[in-house]
Amino acid sequence: MNEQLHALLLADYGAPVTERIEAGYCRARPVTLRINSLKMPAEEGKSALFQAGFSFDEVDWLSSALIMRDIREEDLWHTPLYEEGKVYLQSLSSMLPPLYLAPKEGESVLDMTAAPGGKTTELLALSDGKALITACERDKNRFQRLIFNLQRQGAGRVSAICKDALLLDDFFSFDKILLDAPCSGSGTVSAEREARIDAAFVEKCAVLQEKLLKKAIKLLKKGGEMVYSTCSVLKRENEEVLMRALKGTDARLEPIEAFEGIPLLPSADGTICVCPTERYEGFFLAKIRK
Ligand code: SAM
Repeated sequence: MNEQLHALLLADYGAPVTERIEAGYCRARPVTLRINSLKMPAEEGKSALFQAGFSFDEVDWLSSALIMRDIREEDLWHTPLYEEGKVYLQSLSSMLPPLYLAPKEGESVLDMTAAPGGKTTELLALSDGKALITACERDKNRFQRLIFNLQRQGAGRVSAICKDALLLDDFFSFDKILLDAPCSGSGTVSAEREARIDAAFVEKCAVLQEKLLKKAIKLLKKGGEMVYSTCSVLKRENEEVLMRALKGTDARLEPIEAFEGIPLLPSADGTICVCPTERYEGFFLAKIRK
């Protein structure tokens, strides 16, 4: 275990909860995916996977989400379903933010830090392909990946821009915004992925997160809603960023509740922090209304 991350977790949660989080890191999670309803209805996707010899469990809170049994991601890579963008490999936790944003037909939606695009296509799918989505990504290589994924998943109508979101013109405004912020990844540590997380890195992430969140609040229309999420369980990147960014603005936290069965860590009232377990990655979510 990375000693520095261990110390950060202890400071936030105390010993018993830290032990729970670290036990979650060590569990091998099954492959999970989302059937892409832009290309195929969920029920049809399940039949097609079944006919292709795959077995899976369903997820109560999202009919297009599946937990695959006894496979590795590679087992799907060369199947037509995967190659044609009818299924998208995605962790269960990362399917949550678009659900809480719930984009509707005709709404303008900004996915502020979008690559590789799993949540962008989920946002479009949730609106039956009818929300007006702009996806922004700063990194050129990751932007290429975003474009590839949008094309493959039948989401070519998303407007994609390769730009630092902090430099977006304040002239723009959106009904809804997803800020799935770059973070330390302290929720996604696993036995295979060694964590290089220390206090200095967390601080660097938090500074950028606060800037991005303040910018998002500026770009949100009056009456609009946004979701702030990270795949970190550290309070410095989550609650602390939220409180600092909201201070002195006309935006406020809109309380949300977790779906039944989702394993939770203690978090500020009205926010959700998913605990890493054998099914879930650690993840933080909060909804904001302006
Ligand atoms: N939402 C994505 C998904 O579900 O596929 C994952 C987003 S990832 C957590 C954060 C992304 O933010 C990275 O691709 C990173 O390159 C991008 N990013 C970081 N700083 C940015 C900025 N200032 N403007 C735009 N994108 C940024």
